[in-house]
Parts: sequence; structure tokens; C-alpha cells
Amino acid sequence: MLTLAERDLQYIWHPCSQMKDYEEFPPPIIERAQGSWLYDTEGNAYLDIVSSWWANLLGHANETINARLKEQLDRLEHVIFANFSHRPAIELAERLAELVPPGLTKFHFNDNGSAAVEAALKMAFQYCRQTGRPTKTRFMCFTESYHGETIGALSVGSMDLFAEIYKPMLMENIRVEAPDCYRCPYGKTRDCCACECFEQAERTFAEHGEETAAMIIEPLLQGSAGMRIYPDLYLRKLRALCTEYDVLLIADEIATGFGRMGALFATGRAGITPDIMCLSKGLTGGYLPMSLTIVKEKIYNAFYADWSEGKAFMHSHTYAGNPLGCTAALTVLDILERDHILEQAAATAEWLTARLTETFGDHPHVGEIRHIGLIHAVELVADRETKRPFPAGRRLGYEIYRRALQHGLVLRPLGDVLYFNPPLNITREELDFAIAGMQQALQEVLDS
Ligand code: PLP
Repeated sequence: MLTLAERDLQYIWHPCSQMKDYEEFPPPIIERAQGSWLYDTEGNAYLDIVSSWWANLLGHANETINARLKEQLDRLEHVIFANFSHRPAIELAERLAELVPPGLTKFHFNDNGSAAVEAALKMAFQYCRQTGRPTKTRFMCFTESYHGETIGALSVGSMDLFAEIYKPMLMENIRVEAPDCYRCPYGKTRDCCACECFEQAERTFAEHGEETAAMIIEPLLQGSAGMRIYPDLYLRKLRALCTEYDVLLIADEIATGFGRMGALFATGRAGITPDIMCLSKGLTGGYLPMSLTIVKEKIYNAFYADWSEGKAFMHSHTYAGNPLGCTAALTVLDILERDHILEQAAATAEWLTARLTETFGDHPHVGEIRHIGLIHAVELVADRETKRPFPAGRRLGYEIYRRALQHGLVLRPLGDVLYFNPPLNITREELDFAIAGMQQALQEVLDS
């Protein structure tokens, strides 16, 4: 009789993994979860410091979300969303309209983050076609950007780890040098610069603005690139530049939305309104796959016409607007308000910054400790003075991941960047446990 782990290996191809690694290090098989903790079939507990891929916002098995989902399940599990509608979707759009940056008014439902990005790109392209901007057919994105794994989303991503092999299949987009505050080429620091690096964006826009339909960005935080944080001012300058060159600004808030950044949205924090905004992950509290592509009225209007004009946005996904997803999302909004989650997370974040600085501030291999909202990242370097990274072949991050798991901690480093992106209601005791586990795992790997 095969064990569950052996059956897993026999049948399952896991995402974003080299399956050969699983033979030596099989995955924990998670049986249940509660709050910030995962429990496996062997009786081990793991603190989910990465919110199960940055999605879980308010803890696993949240009592309130579970109760509302059970009610909704007995009423309506799913219905086609073209030509039909339902109460949870209507209420969700209505609620969010009050919370997203002002001017974003129409909500297009999809079923995962990449799909929301695909919709945004197609909308921007078609908008330009249908509003007399025929030269605008291309897209700009940052270097080191990440927007998902489907072909369009990969095309506006810049991380070779995910895209290199597929390059012959991808659209040729225009890269804007992303701000790199830790290794600032202008010798400035994040909190006292005038965004001198913005001249790179200005140059790219001057050269390519005319042919560009939209620029897509991860606002204030390039997550997959290693939790690279850049200042609000950069975002405000970029908003103005997009307007100057008649380039739509797409804010991919899939990872940054719903309080992760200390405000409900990164764009809101910076005081800007993008033309298109993508949401997913925390939208449903990390419960169910759902996403939104939200647009300004001017974009919606460019598609609004008699059917015979052929201007409609002919894009759909089977599970778009799933009523269970919408119910989870509505409940998330209720809990954020009811439990004052953002205020609570802000206090936890301040405490965590101090604790991490105290623990790792003088570590000879810690180059930078950076944070925004409750997201905290610790970048490891071989040499603190020169900021020289460890050789990639050492797989330091993966080794730390394995060790941390043995200490009951789900820590999934991005390269050599260790980070915390926990549920917003995680406790200080739990974070203390995480810091100790991280410290132990790091030391064991450095000593090995
Ligand atoms: N955009 C950003 C900024 C992300 O971080 C992610 C996922 O990590 C995506 C898009 C893709 O979302 P999904 O994995 O749901 O396709």
C-alpha cells in the first residue's frame, strides 16, 4: 500500500517546482489549517508566514468566512456570469467602488491573477484601437517585474527564471529600468531621494511613448523580484508621465491589495488613480480563486456601443464572478472593518520592524531589512560592504526553506531574500516564533 506522499509523487506535477527535488524532500501533506497554522498528516504544525502564496489575509479556517460561505453554498454555488448576474457580485462591486481609488468605476470579474492581467492588457489594446490611437500597440513594464504565468502576463514580466525559455513565444515589450533602492545607482537611500532614477522612465517614454498602449506595474512593491520597495513619489511621477504621453497606467495590485501595504491599496497609499487596476489573492481572503480588473469610466465607454459596431470586450472565464468567491470577498471587507485589521496590522508591523532590526541588524550577512506595511524582507548578501550577493548556484534560499520547515516555519525565500508576508491578524507570539525559526535556519545553513 503506497503512502500519501508516494501517491503524490506518482501522480502530481506541482507548480513552480523541480519534481526531482520532491524525491529527496517530499512535501508535507496538509490535512487542516487554523489561523496562521498548517497541520500535516504526520502531526507537525507549520506557521504560514507567507500566507499560502500571499493570499491568505485573515487566517485559515476563519470562522466568519466559513459560516458565510456555508450559507452561500446552500443558496447558489455558481452560475454563468454572461447575461446573468447575482447578488454577491453586485454587492461586492458596489462596496469596492467606495474603497478603490476614486475614478475606478467598472468591475470585470475573472478567476485568477494572471487572467486579470490578461484582461487588462487586452482592454488597453482594444481601448486604443477603438478610440483612434492605432499606433499604440505595445506595452511597457519594469525590469524585474512579475505579473503572472500566462503568455501575455509573462510577456510583461521581466524575470528570466520564469520567462527565459518561452521568449520566442512572447510579445516584445518595452522595459523601463525599475527603481532599485537597495543598490541605488545614484547613491541615494529610499527615504531621502528625489527619485533621481525616474530619468530612466522619462527617457523610455520619450522614445516609446507614442507606440505604447499601457504601462503595467506592481505599485510600490516588486514582490517576486525579492520584495523590492520603492517610494510613493516614484509612483506619483509615473502617473503624471503616463498622462503626459497618453499611456494607460495598469496597477497590478494582485499582491499589494487589501491592506498588505499598510493601506487598503498601494495606489491609494500613494494618492494616485491608475486607469486599470487588477486585484486577486487577498480579495477572497485567500479562500477562492477570483480576480477583478477594474477600469475608469473612459475605458468602459470605449467598449459601449450597439452590438453591430463590434466593440464589446469578448473575454470570459468559466468561473468569472463565482458567487462563493464574491461572498468570501464581501466577508473579508466586513472583517477588515469590524476588527480594525489595518490598525492592528500597523501596530504589529511597527513592533516587527523593531524585533527584526534587533535580531538581524548587525548580522554580517544581512544587507538590508526593508518593510512596507506588514511585509518585511531581509536580504542576505555574501559581503555587506559591497552588497555582493551569494553565488546563485548555492541555492541558499532553498536550503533555508528546507531547514525552516524542520523548525515548523513556512518560509519561502525569493532568491536570497527572506521575507514575512503573513496574515494581517497574526500575533506577536507567532511572529516571535517565526523570527526564532528564521534565525535558526539561517545559521544552520550558513554553518553547513
Ligand atoms: N501579479 C502579481 C503582482 C503577482 O504577485 C501574481 C502572483 O504571485 C500574479 C500577478 C499572478 O496571479 P496568479 O498566480 O493568481 O495567476
